[in-house]
Amino acid sequence: MRIVVLAGGIGGARFLRGLMSAAPDADITVIGNTGDDIHLFGLKVCPDLDTVMYTLGGGIHEEQGWGRAGETFAVKEELAAYGVGPEWFGLGDRDFATHIVRTQMLGAGYPLSAVTEALCARWQPGVRLLPMTDDRVETHVLIDDPEGEGRKAVHFQEYWVRLRASVPAHAVVPVGADQAKPAPGVLEAIADADVVLFPPSNPVVSVGTILAVPGVREAIADAGVPVVGLSPIVGDAPVRGMADKVLAAVGVESTADAVAKHYGSGLLDGWLVDTVDAGVVEEVEAAGIRCRAIPLMMTDLKATAAMAAEALTLAEEVRG
Ligand code: GDP
Ligand code: CA
Repeated sequence: MRIVVLAGGIGGARFLRGLMSAAPDADITVIGNTGDDIHLFGLKVCPDLDTVMYTLGGGIHEEQGWGRAGETFAVKEELAAYGVGPEWFGLGDRDFATHIVRTQMLGAGYPLSAVTEALCARWQPGVRLLPMTDDRVETHVLIDDPEGEGRKAVHFQEYWVRLRASVPAHAVVPVGADQAKPAPGVLEAIADADVVLFPPSNPVVSVGTILAVPGVREAIADAGVPVVGLSPIVGDAPVRGMADKVLAAVGVESTADAVAKHYGSGLLDGWLVDTVDAGVVEEVEAAGIRCRAIPLMMTDLKATAAMAAEALTLAEEVRG
């Protein structure tokens, strides 16, 4: 079975572990979000691709969910001693090596997809990890300008990491997405898929950004295969992170049914909500999306594998 998964960082990576356990023989292609990418200290950092790569490759800091296990911060401290920031973005020494290799390869002319493949040769994530695009896309968030009357756009990482999403987001703009082309293999993987899954990743700044690359949404809708998603919203709040802030920016309520309707029946065939949200099942089905309520907390591998298995079962059901 060929499965395509549109993944952000932590939510996507943890779900993928469960999926690989539930479907060990499946051929899994992950289309990763690169809208979170940022240039720091002259280096190209791809947080979501790396979270997937480290998580599946056994290098992740388990408790934190991102960054490397056993990390040290000598380089960061040395940079700070020179007064060189930003200090709000935590890059560890081990992680720095990844970004150095990536930046060096990009500088030598390799596209991000080839660089990602090269990095994965070390980590062996067990899936085919593709960036959504080789082109530069940067998600920006429109906020009130703290120094003036107007509004200003900040990089997503500045909004998320430095400001901790503590101020209202008026708009989320994937800058460059409209000019971006899907990376080699992305449209082919979707066309060849037996099922497409949306893990409980951020619907706006992770899955939404991938869908903003021209051709991706259309390819999924036209593939004629089941598309099943899992809600990142449980009990009217994100399980972790601040997805509610960016959902508000696109005018979507932080509820499991509102997110399903935001994706829409034109894209989504099936949707899993948590048992605490069982009350919205009817509402989602009325919108033309098959819906089931099951436990959706990725507390351990067993629970996560059960979620993935339910997603595949629902996919078979809607295949009809
Ligand atoms: P990021 O790029 O690291 O922010 O990660 P993703 O976009 O892949 O996923 C973030 C989303 O995962 C958040 O909106 C969380 O609500 C969701 N999430 C995290 N853990 C869980 C979980 O155990 N269950 C569910 N249903 N969602 C989760
Ligand atoms: Ca992310």
